[in-house]
Parts: sequence; C-alpha cells; structure tokens
Amino acid sequence: MKELAKTKIVATIGPSSWDEKILKDMIYNGMSIARINASFADFDELKRVSRSIRKLSPRVAVMLDTKGHKIRVTGFEKEKELKTGDTVVILSEDTTYKEPLSDKHIAITYPNLHNEISRHAKILLDDGNILLSVEDIRGEQILCKIEQGGILKPKKTVNIPGTHLNFPSLSEKDEGDIKYAVKNDFDFISASFIRNVQDVAMIREAMGNTDCKLIAKIEDREGLDNFDEILPLVDGIMIARGDMGVELPLEDVPIYQKQMIYKCRNVGKPVIVATQMLESMRENIRPTRAEVSDVANAIMDGTDAVMLSAETSTGKYPVEAVKTMNKIALRVENILKPQKVMGDTSACIETDELCRSLFDMTERVMIKGIVVISVTGKTVRSLSRHRLNIPIWEIAENIKQVRQSGILRGVKTYYLNEFPKDRDKAVKQAVETVYSYGELDLNDKIAIISGSSIKNKSTNTILEIVEVKDIIA
Ligand code: PEP
Repeated sequence: MKELAKTKIVATIGPSSWDEKILKDMIYNGMSIARINASFADFDELKRVSRSIRKLSPRVAVMLDTKGHKIRVTGFEKEKELKTGDTVVILSEDTTYKEPLSDKHIAITYPNLHNEISRHAKILLDDGNILLSVEDIRGEQILCKIEQGGILKPKKTVNIPGTHLNFPSLSEKDEGDIKYAVKNDFDFISASFIRNVQDVAMIREAMGNTDCKLIAKIEDREGLDNFDEILPLVDGIMIARGDMGVELPLEDVPIYQKQMIYKCRNVGKPVIVATQMLESMRENIRPTRAEVSDVANAIMDGTDAVMLSAETSTGKYPVEAVKTMNKIALRVENILKPQKVMGDTSACIETDELCRSLFDMTERVMIKGIVVISVTGKTVRSLSRHRLNIPIWEIAENIKQVRQSGILRGVKTYYLNEFPKDRDKAVKQAVETVYSYGELDLNDKIAIISGSSIKNKSTNTILEIVEVKDIIA
C-alpha cells in the first residue's frame, strides 16, 4: 500500500483526467476528493465523472464546484488588442443601446453595471492582466481608460474589486447544478463567491434537507470582511486564491490564507488551500521550487487539504501532480510539531476538552494512534484540528461520512457495516478493522474514544488507553 500523507488532496477532474485508468492512478497516489468544476461541466460530464469515481472507490468523495457569479467578456470571437492609454467602452450583453457597436465596445455578461459602478472604479480583465479605470458613465455605456493593456481573448474573466454588485438571486445554472449534486449523492458542494450570510442562506435553500456538505469559497473583499459570520453557517472553507488574487492586492493573499486557516482550525472546520499550487505542472513534469514551497507552506500553516485545478483537469501530468503533492506533504509533515488550538467546535465542550487532554497525553505517552468510533464525525473534527503526529482512525457505519471525513487532515476513516450495540463488541470490531489494514501491531498502545453505549453516544464519552493485544487477542 502506498504511504499517503495526512494532508488531503483535492483534484479537479477534466479532459486530462476523466479516463478511468488515470483516475485510478490519482486515487492510488492520494486524491481523496474529486472536484468537478461546473463552470466547464454539463450534466453529462457530472454524471460520467461521478459514476467513474464511485465505480473506482466508494471512499473517494465527489465535490461539485458551482459556477457562481463569474462575469466574462462576450460577443466576439477574435482576440482584441487593448493598448495602454486608449479608451474602451464596457456595456452589458443585454444592452438596449441602439447604435452599432464599434471595436471599442466590450460586452460583459453582467446586466446592470452602469447603475452600480462609479467613476474611478477599477475593472480587471483576464485574471487581472488588463486594467481599466472608469472615466465616465453615459447611460448604459461605461467609458474606461486602459491603464494596463494587453491581448484580450474571448470569454476572459471580468473582476470589479471594491464595487458591490447586486447579483440577482442564484443563477438558473447554479440552482440546477446544486439540485443535481444533492439528488445524486455528491459529498460536497463548494459554492463560489460566498460574500455574506445571505449568499449562504440562498445556497442552503437550494440544497434543501441533505447530508451533502457545504464548502464556502472565499474569494473577495466582502467574503473576507464577513468571514466570521459565514464560518459558523458552513461545513468548511475553500481559500480560492485565483479570484482573491485579482479582487485583492496579491501580496495580501498569503496573509489571508494564514488567518483563515487558523480560524477554521480553531472551530474544527475543514479548510482547503486552492489554485496555482503546482501551476507549472500543466506543462512540465517537475514543479518550480517556489510551487513546492507554496504547498509546503500551506501545510505548515495547518491546512486540511491542498487543491489541484488546471494541473489535473487540463494539464499534461495529472497523476504526477497528485504524486508530487503527496511527496511534499509527507516530507513536511515529518518535521512538524502538533499544535493545540483552544476554540470550541460544534461538538460538546466535554468532547473538545477530552480531545485537548488527549493532545497533552500524546506529548508524554507513546501512543501509536487514536481509534474513534464515530457516529456524527464531531469528535474526529475536534481531534484533527490539533494536527497530531499520530493517525486518527475513524470507524464509521455511514459510507458518506467515510468520504466526507476524507477532507480532514490526519484522519483515515474505515467503514463498518453496523456498530454492535454493546460497546465492548464495537470497540473490538473497530480495533480489528484497523489491525486488518496493517496499521497496528499487537504490542502497540492505542487510545480509543467511544460513546458509553454506542447507541446513546451523547450521554457519555469514554477515553481508553490500551494495548492492541488486550482488545483483540
Ligand atoms: C479560485 O478562484 O481560486 C477558485 C478555486 O475558483 P475557480 O477555480 O472556480 O475559479
């Protein structure tokens, strides 16, 4: 069996990776979560990829990433040269402006910008490579000076940092994709451009009553400003550095990364660092030194998971990219010290305190790993956030929980068909399961956390330190 890192790997699936042989290799090398970006996928693709993943492994989670309110330039096929110092006119694709459009006009997929933007605001095209500043607004036409020119290709992105845009409610596409994901048993929905609690409420409403987990993608100023209100309402966070690096000064992104990771760990919610982690591997089999350092630093910051986007969806070396991440993570984890965090999770205070005591104990008592008999996954989240050096083996009787815990750093989850009602029998089966995967020797000392009576777990939690042979011999 391949040695896999404690840090988890989310990999985006696309034309480079949807072949089952490649997916199989990616799983073998450490992909825990397969992400499908709905910006580029239709229902057929969602269906095909999710079926392939389920066929290859019941343990790998599937994540749908919503398109969100991404604005793009539209209405032209041939690239345009935008020269620094020239003027262009931005207007909506739905404009009622009657005159024939000139070469200077650039249509965008947002309907009402002329009523929401003001003079001197900045408009960024193509991931921030082209910069415009608004000089005047004449009816539906927004006159802009090109501050930084470049070649504009069709369908490139538009970002308008610092301007609050009144996006209409959830787009038809997002609503359809979310409902599809929930109906088809997806494990996670990562929702793009979450700016405030109203955005979360809208997504939750579309999701309905479901056990699918919601990950909020934080990618702009508003999302960051409202982070403390958003975090309690979602199941995890994705630090979407792609758009964040256009919406905010690039040099601020590493600081926000560290702050968000810390806040997520503090409350035991999983966090993913995303975008351009091994970007050069789209073309090259070896990453740059800076990229290796970026992945390593995200792990040192304490992230649960690192993400691959174009590297695995359209890049030349999807399997190598996953392998490389796993290799970097194994190396870094080897030198890291666990770090205790003090916040409260959604588990009860007794569970949080018990996990903290266990952290202290592992400093002095040689424990091989911790077995958690888990009904809700809350204890595991409370433990994982301390980033222990020893493994947490979660035993769950719900296969979706097995997949969803796949995002948590340091947690390996095993499926057990049904816990026996009797605690001792459940503990024995749980330890036998971990043992059967070759994780333990009979002489190993382990910690076991379980409910006093498995079927009535909330009343009492037991922590037991024991040698494996005393349980299964
Ligand atoms: C990002 O912007 O960093 C991101 C993860 O979102 P997407 O890949 O959907 O643009």
